[in-house]
Amino acid sequence: MTLETYRKKRRFSVTTEPQGTTAGGARKTKALAFVVQKHRATALHYDVRLEWGGVMLSWAVPKGPCYDPTVKRLAMQVEDHPIEYNKFEGIIPEGEYGGGTVMIWDHGSWTPESPDADAALKKGDLKLTFHGKKLRGSWVLVRTRGRPGDGKPAWLMIKHRDQWASTEDVTELAPRSVVSNRLLIEIARDEGGDMRKAADGDPRALLQEILKNPALLAPPKLRHKKAVWRSKKAVS
Ligand code: MN
Repeated sequence: MTLETYRKKRRFSVTTEPQGTTAGGARKTKALAFVVQKHRATALHYDVRLEWGGVMLSWAVPKGPCYDPTVKRLAMQVEDHPIEYNKFEGIIPEGEYGGGTVMIWDHGSWTPESPDADAALKKGDLKLTFHGKKLRGSWVLVRTRGRPGDGKPAWLMIKHRDQWASTEDVTELAPRSVVSNRLLIEIARDEGGDMRKAADGDPRALLQEILKNPALLAPPKLRHKKAVWRSKKAVS
């Protein structure tokens, strides 16, 4: 597990995403972290990341997690990310890799359900429990044979039947950031992103409600930025 691919894809002189420290060994005492970042890039997806071996193993889930055990959600494995990435919420500049708005949609800890998680990952059948604010209970990530010629391994993310299973759509019911309570459009507004593009990833019905009642918008996040001086002189 290495961050080489992660770093190659990004220009850290342009993006504010973390560069990541050298991948260390697995932490023994602290719980394993997970994060789900809602990412309105070229297309909307949810990046599910699991701490393992000193990095965040990452899958891009186009439709996001689903609590219905009969639904299988495609999860494309992507490059490992640094653990510091878990704190990233904001804007990746347009034209850069993953350009768009990123929201911390959920976070917490996870536990592997099999005693040998390395073997489970190698086999492509990882049963796990999420202890998040939105994601709870038992799930599985299972690798498919994937498409021939395509380097990215395709996995499926599926809810196990337990007391948390439900047919309610968690992505529609809980669309806001767990750290800032913002929608994508509000993150784009606060961080200088493309609001129109970001809004495309927010629930349409909620945006309609906000248009009718703008008080539903989260107040702008205060930023300690120097005001831009503008001349009051008329331009001749
Ligand atoms: Mn992404």
